[in-house]
Amino acid sequence: MNAIKNEIQAIVAGVSVSYSVWECWNRALSDVTMRALHRQSRHFKLEKNMKRWFAFAVIALVAPPFAFAYRNNSFASKPELKVGASAVAITPFGPNPDWADLGGTITQSGVWGEKFGDRNGNGVWDGGEEFEDDEGNTAIDRNSKNKYDGVYLAGFGDKRLAAGKHDDLWARAVVLEYGQTRIAVVAVDFIGYYSEGGYYGVNQIQKLIDPKLGIKEILLASTHNHEGPDTIGAWGDGPLKDGKYPKYLRFVDRQIAKSIAMAAANLQPARVKLGATDPAKSPSIAGMQTRTGGRPPKFFDEELRVMRFVARNNKTIATIINWNTHPESMEDKNTILTSDFPHAIRESVEKKYGGVALYINGAIGAAEIIGDTNTKNNDRIRFDGKDYPLDAKSNRPVFTFERTEAIGRDVAKAAIEALDRGAWSKSNQMEIRKADLRGPMDNQGYLFLARLGVFDTIPVPEDGSQPQFKTWIYAITLGDAQIVTTPGELFPEIFYGVVKYKRSDCPQADTGEPPEPSIRDAMTAKYRFMFGLCPDEFGYIVPRYDFRREPVDVKKMQIKRAVDPCKEKGAPNHYHETNSASSALAPASACVTVALLTGKVPADPACKDVAKHSDFASDLQKQAKIK
Ligand SMILES: [Zn+2]
Repeated sequence: MNAIKNEIQAIVAGVSVSYSVWECWNRALSDVTMRALHRQSRHFKLEKNMKRWFAFAVIALVAPPFAFAYRNNSFASKPELKVGASAVAITPFGPNPDWADLGGTITQSGVWGEKFGDRNGNGVWDGGEEFEDDEGNTAIDRNSKNKYDGVYLAGFGDKRLAAGKHDDLWARAVVLEYGQTRIAVVAVDFIGYYSEGGYYGVNQIQKLIDPKLGIKEILLASTHNHEGPDTIGAWGDGPLKDGKYPKYLRFVDRQIAKSIAMAAANLQPARVKLGATDPAKSPSIAGMQTRTGGRPPKFFDEELRVMRFVARNNKTIATIINWNTHPESMEDKNTILTSDFPHAIRESVEKKYGGVALYINGAIGAAEIIGDTNTKNNDRIRFDGKDYPLDAKSNRPVFTFERTEAIGRDVAKAAIEALDRGAWSKSNQMEIRKADLRGPMDNQGYLFLARLGVFDTIPVPEDGSQPQFKTWIYAITLGDAQIVTTPGELFPEIFYGVVKYKRSDCPQADTGEPPEPSIRDAMTAKYRFMFGLCPDEFGYIVPRYDFRREPVDVKKMQIKRAVDPCKEKGAPNHYHETNSASSALAPASACVTVALLTGKVPADPACKDVAKHSDFASDLQKQAKIK
């Protein structure tokens, strides 16, 4: 929590990156091509499938016994769903041929980094110790010159250099094919990743993938791991130093591309089993979620959702676990690389079913894992059958790998129960929709830091105009499941509907801004997945009725949290708004997502400006007027 400024810088880096895309976008694309692109990307039509259906209908009419056999075999009668999966380690530790290939150096502890003279023998570079400035990093990012490039851990304070490895970090990919549509879903154990990161990100990964593979979209989701390398830039050697390691990020892009290619190479026909559970049905996940500092309302997305892909030979290809809280159970003192509790979730699920397990987080805004900033004496301390008592002095848990793994195993139990009670999807049909989303980066802290030039990646518009965030929202229907994505840490009340789930403790705290429409109510499938930080991380997505942000004191370089009108009743100051790229994120993303799901711009007052935030929504509005 002492890293607010750092977190802000992190988000600034991301936003700036996004701004540069927007700039290029404007320059490179004429209006005509923009419109064509949107029309094309909005909805991948499956014309070939229609033809196959027609052929099947003809066969069914003329040859009933033959057709019956096909009807019982969903693989042959319709376009098939094909699924492939892979897991590629991206841990910056130890010998790795793909790292050696880049000319990457490894430090004395085994963690990757520029070579240094370890005068005090503590295993990590300390400011002042001599190091070999690798020109390879400077070639990728010229601001890396004379900067120590190594593995700084993201998410808490700066200067937290990795000193070893506990378990691997991964790029885990599932490639899905249906008819002419082929997409990749990739989960990475990072704090965040970006569509456009300048020298890294999804746009770079796309260039590394063979076009013959036909991957139309890459849905890259970050687990929001707080014990992995800085992929954003905020946690380097001090508040004004970039913590990113350019060569490593190039390596990561290549490994993600490799994981997608590997998954595409082992595509096979698959069925989908779906399941969902919650603490009432699965007590192993009860009492696991808390709100940051006790921020009201005490509302969570308590549902854990699972999607398991099974091949014809009944072997599991992949299992996706979708749950909703911050993976930070190793907290801020740890210096050993780990993917935190998702590691044990995946390990347990793979032990049970085989195949590749992916952990993808959902609506994690203001939701923390038990033991973080809101510890109470009656908190749950028993995980996987063992007690982990609070430390008497600090009144907080003792953050050990053993406790973290026990938490993961309890989450895995719920995932397995969800599937046990779940159902096979009646259809394997897949459809993907996509909408653009943009808005002003109105966080004064970000703009302030941008103007300071804290990071080389932050573009300060020469014409004085405001930088924009720019990203995508996806909506996928897959049989009896729907998946929507969100470009950051979505407050769960926005997913479920602010009207129903807003805070009731403090009427005077309501800003009067209209409530965002419920995303989940606009979904129609039985199983409703939410993929968070996918494909970008623009920080917290806070509902407007509760959004409070203090102006930044530029002279004092001070970023203050806004005081809640019910501070006296125990409501904490507003932390999340200091780490939110834009006050427009909540209404813009909720309204565009609902429009994408329903084909109509919602009539809610919160959505009246949505055309400004999305060409997709603007087109929908124009079409509605013509009708
Ligand atoms: Zn967070």
